[in-house]
Amino acid sequence: MDSFVYVAHPARVVFGSGALSHLPHEVELLGLNRALVLSTPGHADLAERLGAMLGKRTGGVYTKAVMHVPVETAREARDLAQRLGADGTITVGGGSTTGLGKAIALDLGLPILAVPTTYAGSEMTPIYGLTEGGRKRTGKDLVVLPRTVIYDPELTLTLPIGLTVTSGVNAIAHAVEGLYARDHNPVSDLIAEEGIRVLARALPRLRGNPLDVTARCDALYGAWLCGMVLGAVGMALHHKLCHTLGGSFNLPHAEVHTVVLPYAIAYNAPAIPAALARMTRALGNESPARQLYDLTRANGTPCSLRALGMREPDLDRAAELAVENPYWNPRPIERDGIRALLQDAWEGRRPE
Ligand code: NAD
Repeated sequence: MDSFVYVAHPARVVFGSGALSHLPHEVELLGLNRALVLSTPGHADLAERLGAMLGKRTGGVYTKAVMHVPVETAREARDLAQRLGADGTITVGGGSTTGLGKAIALDLGLPILAVPTTYAGSEMTPIYGLTEGGRKRTGKDLVVLPRTVIYDPELTLTLPIGLTVTSGVNAIAHAVEGLYARDHNPVSDLIAEEGIRVLARALPRLRGNPLDVTARCDALYGAWLCGMVLGAVGMALHHKLCHTLGGSFNLPHAEVHTVVLPYAIAYNAPAIPAALARMTRALGNESPARQLYDLTRANGTPCSLRALGMREPDLDRAAELAVENPYWNPRPIERDGIRALLQDAWEGRRPE
């Protein structure tokens, strides 16, 4: 075995159907007396419910979180936290809400208790992102890593099947890239393989019945594992492409991950035999790229960059941006190969 470095991030995880009932106890354990509850507008009722559960330990509720954490929103929420004398935040929602809690933590150092309701995995990472003037900047700081995470699969029952699949494949993408990351190691590999296996099996069951609580438990467990991988090792071509397409062409986060992942795997395939063997085992199929492609069809969500609204003439520019300052990748990033990959993704062609 090669030598390696493994970094485990500290977090207390409370997992299970109905786990939200542990919130008051967990807030007490964290020592919070004036917690600010954060959510998107769509989850305002849920945020109020959490506030009511906490009674006098609630400092306030802010329900204006939006995608990609615009600095204006982050400042408004931070100022409110200061005015209220908040001593921590409780984020209930997907990556956008967790991201807002992280932005506040970055400025004020307030600890986060995260209650994720999608499979994005941000609650497991010290990575933050802020958008200013249309440009998203990301960074890493342990101060933004949530201290406690409550995973309650019942909160994911309302996820429509389209979002279930795109968010699930977004999570799988973290684990896939983790398997061939430059700094991957035997422990992150174990977590990644299991995360892919559990999630990929849960998603078709959820397509059959989105209210299947057992499948929801499995999917959220898989998402947790995939999020751990994202927090532990570096990402490569797939994430670079998704950041480029999302940031420069304003395409939606989870949907872009879903469209691009099969093609990123196909591109890297010649350079990643060990990672492919693990993906094959996890997915039970000898072509992980085609298996994931098939998994993402027929969910009522866009299956190509064209369907996401990207214009074909923009593919050249996207290829140029993707090869500028590339992330480390197991296969050299060549402009023509990336341009061909983008063409396939634009057309939604089944990988060879
Ligand atoms: P999101 O948080 O924007 O949620 C998408 C939509 O789904 C929102 O309208 C939300 O209100 C709704 N929603 C959330 N949970 C729901 C539920 N259970 N039922 C019904 N509707 C629900 O989307 P996301 O994909 O979770 O997060 C994307 C954002 O997170 C992006 O900005 C991305 O960059 C970021 N992200 C960051 C990290 C990190 O480590 N920093 C990791 C992954 C994603």
